[in-house]
Amino acid sequence: FNPPAPIDLKRYIREVPDFPKPGILFYDISSLLGDADGWAVALERLSRATMACAPELLAGVESRGFLLSAPLAGRLGLGFTMLRKPGKLPGETISLSYGLEYGTDALHLQKGAVKPGQRVVVLDDLLATGGTLEASIKLLGQAGAKVVGAVVMIELEGLGGRARIEGLGIPLTSLVTYQ
Ligand code: AMP
Repeated sequence: FNPPAPIDLKRYIREVPDFPKPGILFYDISSLLGDADGWAVALERLSRATMACAPELLAGVESRGFLLSAPLAGRLGLGFTMLRKPGKLPGETISLSYGLEYGTDALHLQKGAVKPGQRVVVLDDLLATGGTLEASIKLLGQAGAKVVGAVVMIELEGLGGRARIEGLGIPLTSLVTYQ
């Protein structure tokens, strides 16, 4: 008996050269979200990776991280919170600035969104240099969370992202990797 080969999610991920600017190869998950079979397999794998960390709350990074964290939270019976760009969240927030290739950006989290010591898994679509996820993990930590894992759909290897996240003591799981 030969079991069927596991579905390769790369089949569903579109690679768009020179987006959003020349020289960048953009990994577009729209085509995965749009395919019922591909999306079901991705959600199943994301669920397993997330549950392995036994979280009490999920956190999604704006904006494509929301696409993963919201359905997963519903499926796993957990709440989720949003890490957002400046000026999006009402009420009091805490924030953290982080460096980009050109300039800086910041992420915000609503005060009281995380309970002290709460086990949180943070999700995003893609890990490149790890700057975004590192800032997310640090911000959640400042809010009192115990970050127990990071889960991404796509990992770009060779940009140092994994070492950066694991260097914070956070286990990282990705569903697909590209060189
Ligand atoms: P980084 O902070 O360098 O790890 O970049 C990760 C963030 O930028 C994620 O939120 C991604 O959505 C986005 N990103 C970076 N590079 C790409 C890429 N090549 N294709 C799609 N999204 C990307």
